[in-house]
Amino acid sequence: MEEKVLHHFHQTISEHKDVLQTWINSDSSNKEMYLANASVKEVLDLVSEFKDLLEQIDRKEYGECVVCHGEVELDRMEQDCTTNICLDCYSEEQLRELERDLELAAKVQEQLLPCCVPSIEGGQIATHHESARVVSGDYHDFFQLKNGLQGVAIGDVMGKGLPASMLMSNLQASLRILGPEYSQLDQLATHLNRLFRYNLKLIRFISLFLGALDIASNKFYYCNAGHNSPLWWKSDTQSVKWLKPTAPAIGLIPETDFVLESISVKKNDLILLYTDGLIEARNNDEEYGEEKLLAYIEKNNQFSAEEVLNGIFKDVRSFTEKFDDDVTALVIKII
Ligand SMILES: [Zn+2]
Repeated sequence: MEEKVLHHFHQTISEHKDVLQTWINSDSSNKEMYLANASVKEVLDLVSEFKDLLEQIDRKEYGECVVCHGEVELDRMEQDCTTNICLDCYSEEQLRELERDLELAAKVQEQLLPCCVPSIEGGQIATHHESARVVSGDYHDFFQLKNGLQGVAIGDVMGKGLPASMLMSNLQASLRILGPEYSQLDQLATHLNRLFRYNLKLIRFISLFLGALDIASNKFYYCNAGHNSPLWWKSDTQSVKWLKPTAPAIGLIPETDFVLESISVKKNDLILLYTDGLIEARNNDEEYGEEKLLAYIEKNNQFSAEEVLNGIFKDVRSFTEKFDDDVTALVIKII
């Protein structure tokens, strides 16, 4: 394994180990808050497993298949840093098990997509999701906030397969349970970050944009944790503003400030949330990109949320025949 990659794993694993160690040393009430489902013994086992991995890295043996001494696939190690057998060395039965995992993951995900789009006061919402792979890393959902506002979420879970979809279902459950406990999106994001900081074996994080429209004050509140900047089309000035990240991705940094931002919206404004698959759709060397997205909105912002959304997907499809990635988009139009 390359020096650079080894270094990356060393850093991530030792960081994870330290975090778990801190958790073990913390008092019991904190432990429950952070990691309700894991026993201290499980975590201790994991810490010692991490120590072994760090030693393997020092000896430059990390990433080596324990059976054939070839290299373990990097993307599998990124999903689970303890993976130590390459796919070629899997038995028939282990491969079947992997396949079953994938099927299960696809089923878990099917259940996750919201069944319907909620109606919000003062706005129209439309969403569309397309999955390029069996299992997608894209996520979007709706949740309630304590102050009665309807929350919208869009995100991207790093990695794929069963671990990623389990993480996603975890996120969905957490969001739906914790949402009604908070009125402020930044506080909600902080709590989510605390929960997902302890992903145990999974070295991964979640980009997540949380938003809520409060039409009574003409405000759209948001907290952007490392997600692609949504596009805000301002109808009065016919101009655009990108709602840039206000915080790092969920699960990336233990103690961090999740900043709440707000914009003052007006009738006919559009807010477009999306995952990177949309702007990274490729036609040979060219990407669809933010410019084409903006160009489309500049011409078509007068239509309903649903029409704008359908139009965007049509536009991307006329640009490239097939999406390489999962694509999710969500349009909110102020009415
Ligand atoms: Zn092998």
